[in-house]
Amino acid sequence: MIVGLTGGIGSGKTTVAKLFSGLGIPIYIADIEAKKLMNTSNIIKQELIALFGEKAYINKQLNKTLLSEKIFNNSEFLKKVNAIVHPEVTKHFNKWVVKQKAPYLIKEAAILFENGSYKRYDTIITVTAPIDIRIARVIARDNSSKKNVMSIINNQWSDEKKIKHSQFVITNTSLPDTKLQVKHIHNKLLKN
Ligand code: ADP
Repeated sequence: MIVGLTGGIGSGKTTVAKLFSGLGIPIYIADIEAKKLMNTSNIIKQELIALFGEKAYINKQLNKTLLSEKIFNNSEFLKKVNAIVHPEVTKHFNKWVVKQKAPYLIKEAAILFENGSYKRYDTIITVTAPIDIRIARVIARDNSSKKNVMSIINNQWSDEKKIKHSQFVITNTSLPDTKLQVKHIHNKLLKN
């Protein structure tokens, strides 16, 4: 069984993923794997060089400064980069899945509803928290500005919309309470 774990920026997806991992559940974090693949996959490298030129890589490492500048100034580039990276992450994830031996697996992805990929999961858990708390968490975590965080939030589905399409919802405001919710969902998933 493949469980999708999602939630808006700062909701606490990664925190919740770590709690499931502590219960012995294998976790695939799409963002982290995507960043790794951008440096290791020849297909991604070739396509990014075709899009941005040789300067897309410096000493075989992704030129993150160039990439973020390009994406920041042109949202079409973001779509194109996603179209290059996502299929490779999916292939990599599918290879990872067959190697796991656990009653269920979790894939954490910030973008899951927005791109239609939610249809590929057996069950979806959405992590939520009040928006002001999320903004404060991200500002503290990333040293980011409120404006920046708001622009990311405005590009994601609202919590209400995500909740409607989810089988489980975790309200992550107090950590001890979040741990209880995780344990409860874990027990339910084991019974499936
Ligand atoms: P996401 O992956 O959804 O962006 P994170 O799990 O990285 O969110 O959480 C954002 C920040 O908030 C992190 O610095 C994390 O340590 C902190 N955080 C998450 N959940 C809680 C909580 N329940 N109480 C206090 N801090 C939290």
